[in-house]
Amino acid sequence: GDFPIELDTVVVGAGPGGYVAAIRAAQLGQKVAIIEKGNLGGVCLNVGCIPSKALISAGHRYEHAKHSADMGIMAENVTVDFSKVQAWKDSVVKKLTGGVAGLLKGNKVEIISGEAYFVDANTLRVMTESAAQTYTFKNAIIATGSTPIEIPGFKFSKRVIDSTGALSLPEIPKKMVVVGGGYIGMELGTAYANFGTEITILEAGEEILAGFEKSMSSIVKRGLKKKGNVEIHTKAFAKSVQETETGVTVSFEVNGEMKSVDADYVLVTVGRRPNTQEIGLEQVGVKMTDRGVIEIDKQCRTSVSNIYAIGDIVPGPPLAHKASYEGKIAAEAISGHPAEIDYIGIPAVCFTDPELASVGYTKKQADEEGMEVVVSKFPFGANGRALSLNSTDGFVQLVTRKQDGLIVGAQVVGAGASDIISELGLAIEAGMTAEDIAQTIHAHPTLGEITMEAAEVALGMPIHII
Ligand code: FAD
Repeated sequence: GDFPIELDTVVVGAGPGGYVAAIRAAQLGQKVAIIEKGNLGGVCLNVGCIPSKALISAGHRYEHAKHSADMGIMAENVTVDFSKVQAWKDSVVKKLTGGVAGLLKGNKVEIISGEAYFVDANTLRVMTESAAQTYTFKNAIIATGSTPIEIPGFKFSKRVIDSTGALSLPEIPKKMVVVGGGYIGMELGTAYANFGTEITILEAGEEILAGFEKSMSSIVKRGLKKKGNVEIHTKAFAKSVQETETGVTVSFEVNGEMKSVDADYVLVTVGRRPNTQEIGLEQVGVKMTDRGVIEIDKQCRTSVSNIYAIGDIVPGPPLAHKASYEGKIAAEAISGHPAEIDYIGIPAVCFTDPELASVGYTKKQADEEGMEVVVSKFPFGANGRALSLNSTDGFVQLVTRKQDGLIVGAQVVGAGASDIISELGLAIEAGMTAEDIAQTIHAHPTLGEITMEAAEVALGMPIHII
């Protein structure tokens, strides 16, 4: 056996949950070590948020270069060197993951490479390729993230790919089938559609992007139809795939009828499962649901009082900023601060064309809780900045409490929705009313004015709409 090394606070997994928790715990005076079996930055920086957004913006540049004739811009022979796109995307990832290493070191967090396995509530072992080391700890934060789900009949391979595969394709596919019309599938499908790939989306549910209101997803759907190279099948069940050297044939059932479609690749994005198996959590007694989701209290504490869990392995939306938020709460809790989770201000964003974003309550959720609310809406089409950007599809929608005008939720669809939503998250977090937003002077001409005018609609006195 080896001699155990004593640690104060140990973080397992260096994604946006783990590395943020480690830095915050160190800032609060803890002696911290972080264990990572793969790359610093986790899914988000390496094979998630960041590389997907890089591909999405490259796709936008290409699409805009080709289709700006409305504005009088005629570009001929616009071409894509996809290996350069990939190299640029990789350089963005490298910059950020290198930055994380620097931040951890700068905060005196010890970085340990290897795979962690819990032995008991105060001990874990870290395996590297050649050795194993035992560590004891006072507190642990588990932040092991999640992995794509495989569905029966669609074993991942060269041409049956997950989101990671879709982010590093060697060439732009001519045709791609996307199984699962959730946000990951729709973002990647749209990115490749912008690069010219013919996309077929197979969604088992009634709607794509089911997490957002239909009035929002229908605008995305309309935008995809306009592209001309995207086909969407809803209530469509992917049944099997036949793979050849050069492509796939995907069979699916829709309205009781069997159909099939040929493609270069099939991308399966039907959800992710938490990485909570085979890391010793059962023997430590950390309580989990049947699906392997770890139960936590308001301070991210598991059923074992010195072990915390954050990010994709705990309940709630699997989003990077939620993981980071929980990471800070857990680090503060360990350091004896009375921090508690409040999920109301957590935004959800989808980077399709146009973007979708939501924070706080929807009207439906408010109704379900018996809260009387007023919904007010202002369209992009009546905003000068949106017109001058040639991006007039979409709206900002506010959900305000009827009794006092308190902003309790907001939904945005349109260009820049991912940034517009921040102001509304702040409004909710700060307990602002529609009047507060209406009285805030928004620069002209900006998309931010749409938010101000939606607040004026809530007050019954909009200037730029009848
Ligand atoms: P992860 O980022 O999954 O990190 C967990 C880390 O733990 C990994 O590095 C893993 O190697 C390590 N690990 C696991 N087990 C062990 C072990 N036993 N020992 C040591 N290390 C271990 N979210 C957004 O908010 N916005 C987006 O735009 C967005 N886009 C996405 C696009 C794609 C294609 C995908 C797949 C995801 C996207 N997400 C997005 C989701 C986001 O990536 C996750 O919610 C986020 O990464 C979760 O963070 P985490 O810290 O919980 O775990």
